[in-house]
Amino acid sequence: MKQFKSLHEAAEYATSLAGQWSFANSDAAYAPEGLLVLAQTSDAEDPIDEDSVYVVSDGGSIGLCEDEEDIDWLFIADQEKDLALPDTFASGGTRRICNQCGQEVEADAHFCDQCGASLN
Ligand SMILES: [Zn+2]
Repeated sequence: MKQFKSLHEAAEYATSLAGQWSFANSDAAYAPEGLLVLAQTSDAEDPIDEDSVYVVSDGGSIGLCEDEEDIDWLFIADQEKDLALPDTFASGGTRRICNQCGQEVEADAHFCDQCGASLN
């Protein structure tokens, strides 16, 4: 999964991976040209916050991640419409693994939730 700061960049990358998308929860279908035009309009009229990123799945679906965790899938690539896309985004720096027990913990946690080991 890749991250982009604008929908147009995400859409350009997605068009290298897929050929048709449907808009989440509707029957609207998009070909590459339509997707790129819509992305450009969206960036101009409604740019995302600094904390948000667009993500593109390996199969070319495009999602919006507003809090560095949950993903709202906006455009589902036809080849992925029957797949379960991940609904969270593990951005890599936000979680760690406890050295003592292997539990996944928040990056800024001082102690492990599971075994209480100090993480500093
Ligand atoms: Zn632990």
